Amino acid sequence: MASGFGKIVVGTYVEIKRSDGRIHQAMVTSLNEDNESVTVEWIENGDTKGKEIDLESIFALNPDVAPDEEIAPSPETPPPPTPTCVKVNKIAKNRRTIAPTKNDTPSRDNRVIPTRARPQQPQQPEPAPPPPSQQPAQLNQAQTQQQLQNESSHHLISRKESGQLSRRKSNCVKEVEKLQEKRERRRLQQQELREKRAQEVDTTIPNYEIMYMIRDFRASLDYRPLTTADLIEEHRICVCVRKRPLNKKELAMKDLDVITIPSKDVVMVHEPKQKVDLTRYLENQTFRFDYAFDDSTTNEMVYRFTARPLVETIFERGMATCFAYGQTGSGKTHTMGGDFSGKNQDCSKGIYALAARDVFLMLKKPNYKKLDLQVYATFFEIYSGKVFDLLNRKAKLRVLEDGKQQVQVVGLQEKEVKCTEDVLKLIEVGNSCRTSGQTSANAHSSRSHAVFQIILRRKGKMHGKFSLIDLAGNERGADTSSADRQTRLEGAEINKSLLALKECIRALGRNKPHTPFRASKLTQVLRDSFIGENSRTCMIATISPGMTSCENTLNTLRYANRVKELTVDPNQVMEGGRPNIHAVNQLDLLDEEWLSISPQRDDLKLLCEQNEEEVSPQLFTFHEAVSQLVEMEEQVLEDHRAVFQESIRWLEDEKVLLEMTEEVDYDVESYATQLEQILDQKIEILTELRDKVKSFRSALQEEEQASKQINPKRPRAL
Ligand code: ADP
Ligand code: MG
Repeated sequence: MASGFGKIVVGTYVEIKRSDGRIHQAMVTSLNEDNESVTVEWIENGDTKGKEIDLESIFALNPDVAPDEEIAPSPETPPPPTPTCVKVNKIAKNRRTIAPTKNDTPSRDNRVIPTRARPQQPQQPEPAPPPPSQQPAQLNQAQTQQQLQNESSHHLISRKESGQLSRRKSNCVKEVEKLQEKRERRRLQQQELREKRAQEVDTTIPNYEIMYMIRDFRASLDYRPLTTADLIEEHRICVCVRKRPLNKKELAMKDLDVITIPSKDVVMVHEPKQKVDLTRYLENQTFRFDYAFDDSTTNEMVYRFTARPLVETIFERGMATCFAYGQTGSGKTHTMGGDFSGKNQDCSKGIYALAARDVFLMLKKPNYKKLDLQVYATFFEIYSGKVFDLLNRKAKLRVLEDGKQQVQVVGLQEKEVKCTEDVLKLIEVGNSCRTSGQTSANAHSSRSHAVFQIILRRKGKMHGKFSLIDLAGNERGADTSSADRQTRLEGAEINKSLLALKECIRALGRNKPHTPFRASKLTQVLRDSFIGENSRTCMIATISPGMTSCENTLNTLRYANRVKELTVDPNQVMEGGRPNIHAVNQLDLLDEEWLSISPQRDDLKLLCEQNEEEVSPQLFTFHEAVSQLVEMEEQVLEDHRAVFQESIRWLEDEKVLLEMTEEVDYDVESYATQLEQILDQKIEILTELRDKVKSFRSALQEEEQASKQINPKRPRAL
């Protein structure tokens, strides 16, 4: 080795100066005696680069490697290169085969340089590792290679151990070490996370991969939930969604929470899907509503943005409705009726009570105080198209419609209430009446709609009405193909009423010629709230967070979305948001004509046409059969009651007649005539009833036939 190269050997690290003035480290890969220069290589942005530099420039920058006569050795000067250098030299020679261009793909050999930059690393030149003189001298080539191929952490440690490097450490090396340390820390953190996860992985969680996918997805989100500081917007129709927390049962079965509410009006459903190759992935669906309440939201907060703004409406002579819509167990009753603490429901925390509280507060305001309004409450239930009074021992009530389409629930108890406590008592009475004889609160409530109304009257005349409705579980709407008739009829009514409800709400904000309110008892009973000039409504779609409820949750969100989607188009909404008077008159005329036929059936037809996608022709036929059945049932029952009353009279008449025959000289002629009259009458009336029963029975059969024609996939749950 020429002494002209001083202490430089192949593998020595030297500082070099670049044309742009930067100084960084590079490794000598060959000594060129011909022109007294060295070739150096370094790594930059992941690529190996190289250049030839004359010795003079090298010594100028690296006086410590200059020949001895030029610089006196200091006590800390590292020992002269050991034979290891030769071994490294070989490796270095291998590396030389790599073209030092940026676009070259790094070869396997490249990996021997532990500081190889990754694309995401800072765009700085990254010098190669510490001089090979730091390697333990006794390493054989294979060991050396192995060591070099090992993760950079090993170098870091061995370098620290050597303790000889500090003097020669340039800023550049320090920088690289920092980067390496950072990288190492990250790697350790990731390793820890993996280990932690591996420990956490409970093999009894059937969907842990999905759980991590959801976790990772959530980690990337920016959360901005609704707060009390958010503006309460004025909506004629407000549609919002409320997610409840996972309940004990879901937690016990390790169900996953697949719902995310990242902001005040967005709901995301992470639906697990499977590819053909069985790999699982998430399909994230996003919905937007007026408000989205996450599982930490209290009833008070939900109330604040939904029903509270409607309290004023009823003081302003308007009609307000607020619906809780969703699958059974999703939190409808919790929202409307109140928190359950253990077995007892705290009614005071439900929207019914919160609305009542504000009604009494509002009543004290000077503007309204002078109106001298009285407050009344009703509480009833609609089950399978029949109305039952929850404030009167579940008395079955009839719904009648007069020539002016005024719908009346005959005999419905309206109880006067003077304060919130009065209302709470009524809610308790109604609730216990609703669920009495039931194995669980949900057993019956999943199949019936509960309507709680706060009515304002002025000198007996209706001033405003607030109807708060805890709807039947929407999954019940799919029960139309059940083998059990009772379940089918309930399902049909729920299916119809939820479709009709959607149409009626849509009609609130749009200029529609006719609303199919007669298609269901629910919409018929609430008719005045939908057509009033000053009507406002709010729907709270409640959803369960669990993966097992995913399908139902998506159905709920789609329904809620359709309710609002169709009302947001400003071109469709009439000026001032009020129905056109002319249109209302036309509607009345239309109704008059239709009344003589069967308005229920016509509304049903309209409803089914409006919901073609959900209502197949077979389902429509079934709905028709059910409607006919329900109408006939009412007639048969009414006639039977009349015949029963009549029979009592016949019995009395016949008794008198028979007593007459016991007299010695009774009038045989008169007896025969009277008996014949009675019998004729009986036969006529009984024949009529028998014919009705016959038709009723064939209607029952028709319904059964029609139910069998329904494709079980259609309808899907609403
Ligand atoms: P639905 O009336 O829709 O069938 P419920 O209101 O009865 O459902 O709720 C089912 C269960 O979940 C009840 O035990 C209820 O207490 C609980 N629950 C519902 N919503 C919430 C909520 N937001 N926070 C805590 N628990 C809730
Ligand atoms: Mg309920």
